[in-house]
Amino acid sequence: MKYVIITGGVMSGLGKGITAASVGRILKNRGYRITAVKIDPYLNIDAGTMNPAQHGEVFVLKDGGEVDLDLGNYERFLDIELTSSHNITTGKVYRTVIEKERRGDFLGETVQIIPHITDQIKLSIRQAAEEEFSDGTQADICLVEVGGTVGDIESMPFLEAVRQMRGELPEHDYVLIHVTLIPKDTMGDLKTKPTQHSIKALRELGLYADIIVGRCERPISAQTKRKISAFCDLPQSGVISAATVPDIYEVPMEMEKEGLADALAKHLNLDQPQVDTSWYRLVTKEYTNRVTVAIVSKYGIEDVYISIKEALKHAGRALSIEVKIVWLDAERYEKCQLKDYDGILIPGGFGIRGIEGKIGAIQFARESNVPFLGLCLGFQLCVIEYARNVLGIADATSEEFGEGTHVIALLPEQEGLTELGGTMRLGDYTAEIKDGTLAMKLYGQKMITERHRHRYEANPQYISKLEKAGLIFSSMNKNRMESAELPTHPFFFATQFHPEFKSRPTKPSPPYVGFVEACRANKLTK
Ligand code: GLN
Repeated sequence: MKYVIITGGVMSGLGKGITAASVGRILKNRGYRITAVKIDPYLNIDAGTMNPAQHGEVFVLKDGGEVDLDLGNYERFLDIELTSSHNITTGKVYRTVIEKERRGDFLGETVQIIPHITDQIKLSIRQAAEEEFSDGTQADICLVEVGGTVGDIESMPFLEAVRQMRGELPEHDYVLIHVTLIPKDTMGDLKTKPTQHSIKALRELGLYADIIVGRCERPISAQTKRKISAFCDLPQSGVISAATVPDIYEVPMEMEKEGLADALAKHLNLDQPQVDTSWYRLVTKEYTNRVTVAIVSKYGIEDVYISIKEALKHAGRALSIEVKIVWLDAERYEKCQLKDYDGILIPGGFGIRGIEGKIGAIQFARESNVPFLGLCLGFQLCVIEYARNVLGIADATSEEFGEGTHVIALLPEQEGLTELGGTMRLGDYTAEIKDGTLAMKLYGQKMITERHRHRYEANPQYISKLEKAGLIFSSMNKNRMESAELPTHPFFFATQFHPEFKSRPTKPSPPYVGFVEACRANKLTK
């Protein structure tokens, strides 16, 4: 097992996750099996209880792990399925060590950050790296992205652990990539000082960058690379620019052009086999059409729905349709705006804020034959809308929102739960699709597996009433409703699950493909 450690300097939000995922893609294109670990230095056990407006989307893994959105990037770039052990947090590490201490595993010892916490970090990294994929194979190379910025108090034990790893592993099994910012000054010149300082901070911790990836607006000149090379003790070939590109999936190609593959091959002593270029062809295919989709959301930031954004892009790529997204504020948009879009998407969410705006948008999509895709909360709101406006249950609502007729009810197993962390219906569940439905047309198979994250469901007491009135529940997990659709509508489809989490550029998600195709058909009728 070889390790590629990725650290970050200067500031957060540089795209370390995309850099890590792109490094992985470059190596995968050469036939290596890649896995990835994300280290998040916060004290939360996982991202499940964190506000997405602050931290970005909570990504859901097949085993139900609620994790950092970077794991979504790894899965999408590398076409792998990870588990929660691939997201290591301070909370998880300390909990494990304290549990061991209480069990008496360290009897007699003083339990300390070094060596006990650092040993646990190294063990957790190794266990995740060596975990088998579902086909029983193991990775050749593990990417380890250390979240945060070098110098943060929180990341110290993790940086110490990856420092120790260099000494413990054979020389060619370890490489450290440091991602920094190369900003522009007021004259437009690229400046290297922040990188120099950040390398200095790294050195103070005993860490050495073998490769520097500099995030910049335009590629770094040879002269600037020479300067970085001189100040930061690495050959010029180890300085790679990561200039801003229109689409994140083009980053591997850009870094490949900069010589990153050769630098990695040198450090890790890799053969340079034939490169599979299919990824590069896929992500640069020309679009022939364009559609505009409205996403009605209560959050001001797009990072909350990063997987939806990407899933629309994957579906669009497959159909050569560029999907433009317009974000509508659920509490503020004007109803007359809705007719401007080729399709309407209602994403997942929690709480009552903004739901009336979302229900209004669903009603518009249903009555005006505009393609509609509802996801999780979007599925639940489509049931509420149908109950209110077609069945005539004026006070139809979800138990989550308060008083009324609960056509959406708490899952029975959620009753009386006292802990909020990690207790939703999470991760992979199968659904059986009914014959002759849109769901069957989209997926083309009877049994599907998709990822979930919810506490409420379509109330079994109202299913037959809703079905008699025309809303068809087209897939089920036992007696739990997994999708709904309207046979009389060009494309009206909602899922209790989140198909976006399994979407990849190389494997677009069927409901998204169907939706984007329907948006295009709708646009043609205008
Ligand atoms: N709030 C809803 C529930 O808990 C929907 C969740 C979601 O959209 N992820 O069931």
